[in-house]
Amino acid sequence: MKREIAVLTVGDELLNGERADTNTAAIARRLAPHGLRLRESLTVADVESEIEEALLELAGRRDVVIVTGGLGATVDDLTARVAARAFKRHLVLSDEALRLIREHFRRTGREMHPRNEKQALLPQKAILIPNPVGSAPGFILPQGEKELYFLPGVPAEMLAMLEATVLPRLRVGGEGAVARERIFKILGLSEPAIEEMVAGAGLPVGVTVAFGVDFPLVHLKLRCSRADADSLLDRSDLIVRRLFGENLVAMGDETLAGNVARMLVGMGLTLALAESCTGGLIAAELTELPGASAFLERGAVTYADSAKIAWLKVPASLIAKEGAVSEACARAMARGVRRSAGSDFGLAVTGIAGPDGGSPLKPVGTVFLAVAGESGETVLPCHFGGDRGEIRRQSVCLALDLLRRALIGRIAGGA
Ligand code: ATP
Ligand code: MG
Repeated sequence: MKREIAVLTVGDELLNGERADTNTAAIARRLAPHGLRLRESLTVADVESEIEEALLELAGRRDVVIVTGGLGATVDDLTARVAARAFKRHLVLSDEALRLIREHFRRTGREMHPRNEKQALLPQKAILIPNPVGSAPGFILPQGEKELYFLPGVPAEMLAMLEATVLPRLRVGGEGAVARERIFKILGLSEPAIEEMVAGAGLPVGVTVAFGVDFPLVHLKLRCSRADADSLLDRSDLIVRRLFGENLVAMGDETLAGNVARMLVGMGLTLALAESCTGGLIAAELTELPGASAFLERGAVTYADSAKIAWLKVPASLIAKEGAVSEACARAMARGVRRSAGSDFGLAVTGIAGPDGGSPLKPVGTVFLAVAGESGETVLPCHFGGDRGEIRRQSVCLALDLLRRALIGRIAGGA
């Protein structure tokens, strides 16, 4: 039996813009790997009548309702009282809950305020959910075949209790299906183009397709919830790899920068960077993961012409003749930083991210990327659309990709 699950989040702060509801997404993410999906979610204010109405409605049309928020000790924490009224139960003092609350305060060495006793008032016949993190215990209210779970609003407490108590219960009564997902990160193709290619690729029946965007990358997500999901996704994996070839720049949790870093480390190669319009963003991406010292020798942010001349040994005459945003300058920057660092590769970016600085010949979005290696330099002239942020983002990704392609070339060439 497929049970329908709803989430109800309670709190004025979620509706007045003070705070974004992160609990619903966190719950959905934790349930998904077990084949459990949310059918709907609702947010209401700290108003008794509204909480009650929402509880009754959701319990009416769904099998499981997970409620977060309003279990605290202050006057705006109304959930337990409202739940009792909605389902016609008395509110009773739970000795077990009181013991857990006292124990929490003893353990954390804090004095318990008499008001915290309020948190031990639970609807009759509620099943206690211990709170391993904070003071407010949660509870389960069984309603015939249905179950309502009440958890605190504090995200860390909510998650701990979801993991320890709610998930195991849902899984026992549950569908047992596994939902597996593989993510393929694709550069240089649009979502519709990817969709069309996938549609004609003959993916196995039972594998569904979804999309996400991490600009300028498109994430292709293949999902399967059949018992043989792993082998179906293995087959899909081969198809997708063949289909997208060099446009496939990373998979799963790995980022493009992470993939490039792993390749450099695996091949025992070093890198130096010369960045102009990206202002160090490439260096930041490559150093986000630990272990970058194994391959990254240096990264220079050479914004002014004088910096390109002094640090990268770009000839002043070249800049005077071609301009700092030019194929020749990018080439000289990559060569220069490689030489001064004594690294295997040099990677350089120079361009106009805007909004000012463009000209008819070199409009905003004109960017030159260059990679230098032992066999010379490769330059990629680009014309990016978008605002300053988007132009810089594209520059970072395409520069990393240029290096990635150079590394692949090295593998293919056996150098
Ligand atoms: P407490 O014991 O802290 O009073 P509680 O169960 O009463 O816990 P709330 O008072 O509703 O929970 O919220 C506690 C904290 O958690 C607040 O900072 C609140 O903004 C935050 N919070 C509540 N609900 C959510 C939510 N859905 N998403 C993100 N944060 C939330
Ligand atoms: Mg609240």
